[in-house]
This record gives sequence, C-alpha cells and structure tokens, in this order.
Amino acid sequence: MIAVAIDGPAGAGKSTIARKAAHELGFIYVDTGAMYRAVGLACLEKNIDTADSNAVAEMLAETDISIVFLNGEQHVLLNDRDVSSQIRTEQASMTASKVSQIPEVRQFLLDLQRNFAKTDNVIMDGRDIGTVVLPNAHVKIFLTASAENRAQRRVLQLKEKGEKVEYDQILSDIIRRDYEDSHRKEAPLKPADNAVTVDTTTMTLEESIAKIIAIIKENII
Ligand code: C5P
Repeated sequence: MIAVAIDGPAGAGKSTIARKAAHELGFIYVDTGAMYRAVGLACLEKNIDTADSNAVAEMLAETDISIVFLNGEQHVLLNDRDVSSQIRTEQASMTASKVSQIPEVRQFLLDLQRNFAKTDNVIMDGRDIGTVVLPNAHVKIFLTASAENRAQRRVLQLKEKGEKVEYDQILSDIIRRDYEDSHRKEAPLKPADNAVTVDTTTMTLEESIAKIIAIIKENII
C-alpha cells in the first residue's frame, strides 16, 4: 500500500488539493481534521467544556466516530449521524483545535486513521500525519501559505456557504489556530524531517495540484 501524508496549517488548501490529487491517482483521500471537528461538534452539542479534558474523555467513551465513503467522498458519522456539513463552521474549527490538544482525543482517533493506510492507497491530510500517524509514509508533504493568503481563501469559502464572516476575525482565528496547533505538547504541527515543503502563496489552485501530483509521482514510481 502507498501512503502519502500531507500536513500543514489551517487553510493552506490541503483538503482541496489532496482530494483532487487522490482522485487523479486513484487513491482514497482521508481528511483527519474532519474527525477532530466531529469530536468538537460532539462537545458543542453536549455542552462539554473543552478545557475539561476528563469530561471530554468521558464523553468519548460513549461516542462513536466513523468514516464512510459515498461516491468517493468522505463522510463523517457521529453516533451514526452524518455531520459532514455541520462540522464546517468557524465555531467547529475553533472547537476542533481545542479538543485536538487532549491526548485521549488524539489516541481515540489514531487507530481509525491508521487503519485506512492498511487497506488502501491513501492520501491523508492533517497536522501530524507525517510525524505521528504514518511515520513511514512514502511521500510527506508540508503544504503552507501566508496567513493573509489563507485567511482570504477561507473567507471566500465560508461566504460561498452563506456564513457571515469578517476577514480580520478569520485572520486572527487562523493565527491563533496556527499558534495553538504548533505549540501544543501532543503531536504539534511541524514538518516531518523528510517532508517536502510546498508554499502555495503565489500559486493558483491548479498549479498547486499539479505540483503535489508531480511530487507524489516522482517519489512512488
Ligand atoms: O484540517 P482542519 O482545519 O479541518 O482541522 C481542524 C483542527 O483539527 C485543526 O486546527 C487541528 O487543531 C486539529 N487537527 C489535528 N491533527 C490532525 C488534523 C486536525 O490536531 N491530524
């Protein structure tokens, strides 16, 4: 099985690029952020304080998170309910970042994530795929872009979905999430030692996809 790890900060275009590259290569695409978002959503719905790691861990014991693929698209199920669109709000993003700092949450999701790479050729994206989840991945990519650029893209994405958002708020959320993701104790966001870093600030989406596919092909053929 071939495994490709794509890590990087929020809004660098990982999911769009990874999805397209996986489609082109005939691999499955696994979005691990969606799993953290589902845990975050569960806390929001049950009014659980994400600063209380014991309460979050207790909730996990009664929570089932699973992934299904419908027409090749990943859907995330929270206790058998498809929450794929509910997890995409700004509030769910910030809550995901909070729960992702809790070791029990990371452990809870680790097997689920690793199992995909046992049965399928996979492109998996997240923050710690090359460093922790799939340390033996054949290809590791660290995808990044300037915070301003990522905030602009995110504003467009959220506006397309009809969410009312302010650029300044999104930029400060991105900067805060970057800081929290890269300074946490557990599996912090950082490039794996042997990762190829790709900065997409001045690239179009098509250029970024082509670049990622080229890197993958160079390394697996
Ligand atoms: O990638 P996405 O923005 O959907 O991820 C939401 C949050 O989940 C991130 O800000 C990060 O805190 C957390 N996450 C993580 N490890 C991963 C994927 C996501 O900690 N592998």
